[in-house]
Amino acid sequence: MHPRPDRELAVAYLDGTVAPGPLSDEAARLRDEGHGRTVTYSRKVFIPLTTLCRDTCTYCTFAKPPGAGGMYLEPDEVLAVASAGDAHRCTEALFTLGDRPEARWRQAREFLSEHGHSTTIGYVEEMSQLVNTETGLFPHANPGVMTTDEMTALRPSNVSMGMMLENISARLMEPGMPHHNCPDKDPAVRMDAIEAAGRLRIPFTTGILVGLGETNEEIVDSILAIGEAHARHGHIQEFIVQNFRAKADTRMRGHAEPIPAWFARVVAVARWLLGAEMNVQVPPNLTERFETYLSAGINDWGGVSPLTIDWVNPEAPWPHLDELTARTRAEGFDLLPRLPVYPEFIDRSWIDPGLIDKVESAIDDRGFAVAPQMEGTS
Ligand code: SF4
Repeated sequence: MHPRPDRELAVAYLDGTVAPGPLSDEAARLRDEGHGRTVTYSRKVFIPLTTLCRDTCTYCTFAKPPGAGGMYLEPDEVLAVASAGDAHRCTEALFTLGDRPEARWRQAREFLSEHGHSTTIGYVEEMSQLVNTETGLFPHANPGVMTTDEMTALRPSNVSMGMMLENISARLMEPGMPHHNCPDKDPAVRMDAIEAAGRLRIPFTTGILVGLGETNEEIVDSILAIGEAHARHGHIQEFIVQNFRAKADTRMRGHAEPIPAWFARVVAVARWLLGAEMNVQVPPNLTERFETYLSAGINDWGGVSPLTIDWVNPEAPWPHLDELTARTRAEGFDLLPRLPVYPEFIDRSWIDPGLIDKVESAIDDRGFAVAPQMEGTS
């Protein structure tokens, strides 16, 4: 019998002072207990509503200043991407964007004013309403830190929302560290937003970014903090374990990336600490090691797009869905499409009443997305 979740043992697994075999076995057992042999993914389009951002994370290539490509998408551009996704039988419109650029950039304030808004999140609200009304897609807003009022305003058009915690350690904001001068990466601010989402009963996506220079204790404490918020509210619909990738044109280009065998231990520790029921995800475009992470206890591959690039990791193409399906099946799993809200959150207590009919018309009797024809669609 494997020991119950324990902080010190979790750190020891990551330190390598305890052999990882029992951890890996326990993580796979817990995944099978909670999810059987079903692995999911969300068929999505990526809508980078603005690449302007007030923060300067030292690993980021998504954010750009106004003179170097930082911009907003116009409503017709948003609708064009979403409509193309509709035509490719996508179900998720992922709105990912820079954090509160109007606090830093005059050009952001001007764009928003010309479009009748004073905040970027106000514009997200209008665009997610547009996509929700005009297409069959379900918006999932990932606009950085949100206030309670902002999440309340987004709820009628978003079946779920998300924001990575990344790490619970304020040490990463010190001079020389990746989140220095990034007010939106303050872990206390991010945990407040995660708590607020729970109070509002919003199915919420979060997770950790691994390899930023954090300690193993800080990784474990980050997982535990999210687990505690979930214990209070029950709202964490998925936990993403994302590996840092060193991008050529960033200040962290020479920083070591996590070694896959060790990163798999982080995945297994997350499954062990968060339990059988949690949906644990590794983004498949940031690794070649699909089989390794299935063995480490994941049950979800996250959003995969047949159409748009990963704007946050543009160097990393999505795997072809046929390949993802074949390799997942070869490990003994079914790969099923889901909406950007997981089946266990599909009821009127979690989803805005104005969205529930649309959701129910898009799922099968188990709550998964009505499967697209796979052949020739990816
Ligand atoms: S990682 Fe996010 S918050 Fe940081 S600079 Fe990039 S877009 Fe902004």
